[in-house]
Amino acid sequence: MSLQTGFYSKQRMRNIYLRRGKAESLRRFHPWVFSGAIASSDGKLKEGETVRVISNDGEIMGYGHYQIGSIAVRMLTFENEEINDAFWQQRLSEAFSLRSALQLTGREDNTIYRLVHGEGDRLPGLVIDVYGKTAVMQAHSVGMHVCRETIADALIAASNGLIENVYYKSETTLPFKADLHQENGFLRGHDDGNIALENGLKFHIDWLRGQKTGFFVDQRENRSLLEHYAKGRNVLNMFCYTGGFSVYALRGNAKLVHSVDSSSKAIDLTRANAELNFPNDSRHEAFAEDAFKFLEQAGSNYDLIVLDPPAFAKHKDALRNALKGYTRLNAIAFKKIRKGGIVFTFSCSQAVNKDQFRLAVFTAAAQSGRHVRILHQLHQPADHPINIYHPEGEYLKGLHLLVRP
Ligand code: SAH
Repeated sequence: MSLQTGFYSKQRMRNIYLRRGKAESLRRFHPWVFSGAIASSDGKLKEGETVRVISNDGEIMGYGHYQIGSIAVRMLTFENEEINDAFWQQRLSEAFSLRSALQLTGREDNTIYRLVHGEGDRLPGLVIDVYGKTAVMQAHSVGMHVCRETIADALIAASNGLIENVYYKSETTLPFKADLHQENGFLRGHDDGNIALENGLKFHIDWLRGQKTGFFVDQRENRSLLEHYAKGRNVLNMFCYTGGFSVYALRGNAKLVHSVDSSSKAIDLTRANAELNFPNDSRHEAFAEDAFKFLEQAGSNYDLIVLDPPAFAKHKDALRNALKGYTRLNAIAFKKIRKGGIVFTFSCSQAVNKDQFRLAVFTAAAQSGRHVRILHQLHQPADHPINIYHPEGEYLKGLHLLVRP
């Protein structure tokens, strides 16, 4: 990566100059430049614009999107390449190639997968989930927002006919301070039905109003694992949202499945999804209640419990309380679960790492006085890749636990 400055005159864009020693993390391909690393820039930078990043001894480190805030530049490339239509198409083609190698594209039984996972796909600030022929695109940075139309075209071109519709859903993910007032809507194509398939199971996807891009794509493999353990069990699916784990448990021949979520909309969705796959199946019941309250009042008849709460820590400052929350939740589950029971417990907080989460669950086990063993350590699937130079991209962790008979 020894690019000489004389080389770049073909691209007219503004430069950002780094302080001495601040290019080191970029040499290791860490995709962010923090505001404190910047010595100066050519003129006043506009939020969302693409900038050239230059070390203090004049070496071009690459190109990225500028944004006001502590992460000042999100790097798109560490090469001396133009950020043009061909660049976006190339990156999105790479994303499709990986999903094809993972055997997620072109399947009839599975039409849901993540196509772009931000830094994990060398596209910081961008998330794209695919539901059949519709891609739901989310910008988490102003730069990706600015490029949304170009990305939508590149996405369709790179998909070789796989994608026809692009829905843009960034109302809640764009930085609040940027004041963009973006409304959700279709950038390309139209709404062509919203039922998609995951491992042969059907789901209504509410990308118009639903959380994230409408579905939690990241639990696909963990739901499959649960299916294998559900037979004959009384399953309690806490924080069920669209009822993903519940529907897999029904297919896995669970004796009964109870789904709980505090949101009545989530409960409606869960009921609809259970009905879509297993009409009139009296094994399933759904409750719109607070998870902690429900668990406290529950009897001790459950022998498989799923705990998949929302991120308890959205920021590092909330870490201590978040860990206490995980401990409290898991401790009630351990107390209530039948002997020989199974717990699938998760944390999707980026601010909580694997070891901290495991310690929180350990504390819960110790408090409940139950003997607990780890059968599987769970994580996000391969369509949510983690850039090894950006460990912050590892957010979903879970444990599959057996509580001693
Ligand atoms: N397990 C789900 C995803 C869970 S998302 C899946 O596989 O798709 C987290 C869910 O927790 C949201 O639906 C939210 O409504 C719900 N939630 C948040 N706080 C809650 C609480 N105190 N009690 C019950 N549900 C809660």
